Amino acid sequence: MPLDTPQFRPPPEPVAFTPNPAAELPRHADVVVVGAGMLGASAAYRLALAGLRPLVIEANAPASGASGRLAGMALAGLGGHFPRVTALVHEAGARSILDYTCRSLDLLEELDATLPGGIEWDRSGSLDLLMTEGELARGKAMAAAQNAEGLDARIIDRDELRDRCAALDTSGVLAAKWTARDGKLNPFRLVYGLLDAATRSGARVVTGVRVERLVTAGGRVTGVATSAGTVETDAVLLATNAWTPALVDWVGANLTPIREHVLVTEQVPPLFDPGIETNSCNEYWRQMRTGEVLIGGYAVADEGMGIGSYSMRVRPSLPPMLAGLLIRLHPALRDVRVVRAWAGLLDFASLEVPMVGALPDEDGRPMPGGYLACGFTGHGLPYAPVMGLLLSELITSGSSRTLPLEPFDPARYAGVVHQPTWLEPFESHA
Ligand SMILES: Cc1cc2nc3c(=O)[nH]c(=O)nc-3n(C[C@H](O)[C@H](O)[C@H](O)COP(=O)(O)OP(=O)(O)OC[C@H]3O[C@@H](n4cnc5c(N)ncnc54)[C@H](O)[C@@H]3O)c2cc1C
Repeated sequence: MPLDTPQFRPPPEPVAFTPNPAAELPRHADVVVVGAGMLGASAAYRLALAGLRPLVIEANAPASGASGRLAGMALAGLGGHFPRVTALVHEAGARSILDYTCRSLDLLEELDATLPGGIEWDRSGSLDLLMTEGELARGKAMAAAQNAEGLDARIIDRDELRDRCAALDTSGVLAAKWTARDGKLNPFRLVYGLLDAATRSGARVVTGVRVERLVTAGGRVTGVATSAGTVETDAVLLATNAWTPALVDWVGANLTPIREHVLVTEQVPPLFDPGIETNSCNEYWRQMRTGEVLIGGYAVADEGMGIGSYSMRVRPSLPPMLAGLLIRLHPALRDVRVVRAWAGLLDFASLEVPMVGALPDEDGRPMPGGYLACGFTGHGLPYAPVMGLLLSELITSGSSRTLPLEPFDPARYAGVVHQPTWLEPFESHA
């Protein structure tokens, strides 16, 4: 299949929703957060702790988007995106992307301890299985690049792999990259825990209401027009993932929705040690504390490789492929039943580095009152906690004190079309 540009910029689609006739919106809010996924929830939580009373407007239910459809792995090294994101972060004058992603993982650990009921956080470490000579070479290069930035990642041979994971059939595996810092969690607990805590501190969450457009006056954002009326505010944060181009058209030139599937088994006894395994980060699987095994990926086998799709319908050919990979590597799961499958949308930023910060217009000029957070390129968990914190600092004080947001400045994407740098795993299947 040719990888030509039109599929990278599908016509923007607003998120589908069923209006809530009982929803009531205030006429004015301190700050409006659009979207109740992990980013919107993290930002609302931090804004409420900072003393504002954020209004979160969600078209569907919290975590109904990607944040309730992910596998739940928090990878500090960002899979295959690490080298290119690292280069851009350095170019922008910041120390290391690990300052952001490792901070997120530490914040997740803190949230597990502080949110009532926790978030099922396990600092399990992750294993990236390397099955071909090409994957082995890339795995070694990646470990070296991550070590150079200060991440403890190393290649382990088949003998060590066998000792670590008795249940894994290592016959088709050459080696693995082991990253001790990585962790996993239950994303529903994260999103709902953050929103509950934000609500206790003065936030309000309204569901079944879609923001239809930003309201502007005199070159600044002054509110949102929604399916349930208009809200005036001094600040609007768009935490709207792949649906962002429906609200800010220019973003679509550098933000592509990509559909990916996840399959879930019935509960089985503990099988994985460590808790996360990936296949060159293209496919990934982990076990929940409650015993279910989740496996996701195979976008390359989807129609059009899932690139440019806003549809979240499950394509019937995908779940058997995911189940086949799982059984091949974990034969003990051969007779286990599959209980669910779903699809969700990744939002790939053309240069792989997310768009987080003050919202510019399409010419890159500031639009005071507007803020943007999207383009997490398949890695919401190592970004959302720290970005929620930095955005709340930006919104409340005019700058992010904890870490600079310059590397993620959305202005790098305004008024230009960057050729995607994320094509490599797709190209080999084209
Ligand atoms: C199959 C799959 C597996 C993944 N696995 C992982 C993983 O293991 N680890 C990891 O770190 N990341 C993973 N990701 C990526 C991760 O899920 C995302 O990066 C993250 O969830 C993005 O969070 P968000 O809050 O930006 O977006 P979302 O969770 O999608 O939230 C956006 C919300 O905005 C709402 N919305 C949109 N437009 C409007 C509007 N106009 N008005 C009101 N509401 C609106 C939507 O309804 C939605 O609830 C995976 C993604 C998928 C799809």
